[in-house]
Amino acid sequence: MGIDPGDLLRQRGLRVTAQRLAVLRAVSDEPHVTADAVAETVRGEIGSISVQAVYDALAVLTEKSVLRRVQPAGSPARYEGRVGDNHHHLICRTCDRMVDVDCAVGDTPCLTAVDDFGYEIDEAEVIYWGRCPTCVAATSVSKGTVREEKERRD
Ligand SMILES: [Zn+2]
Ligand SMILES: [Zn+2]
Ligand SMILES: [Zn+2]
Repeated sequence: MGIDPGDLLRQRGLRVTAQRLAVLRAVSDEPHVTADAVAETVRGEIGSISVQAVYDALAVLTEKSVLRRVQPAGSPARYEGRVGDNHHHLICRTCDRMVDVDCAVGDTPCLTAVDDFGYEIDEAEVIYWGRCPTCVAATSVSKGTVREEKERRD
């Protein structure tokens, strides 16, 4: 995140608490993490914090643009500390691995809609779905095996 997490919170007018710092740390250690995984990590550090308190912290941090919430269709929301640049995501349909990908052309061109209908646009939600290299490789290996078995039978 580059900037001191405490400063980041103060800049956004948020009180610095151990809970919020722990939530920030969990997300910056593992970008695109789900709320449940954040709760697990934070509760490992601060035993006394409730799951609800972690969810509340995530909600506040997202609302104040300290964190960005990504909500892929049909899968749980994920959180990341890379905010404000309107980058997009690639998601593997097989293993759910999510990676960052910059706008296709130069600087956030997706924010320039063909017609904005007078709306003030601040985010374009672009998610590329597909299969990651690991999963593609795994499938072609198993296909190869099936073919070999068939050949042996023939
Ligand atoms: Zn995959
Ligand atoms: Zn991202
Ligand atoms: Zn874009």
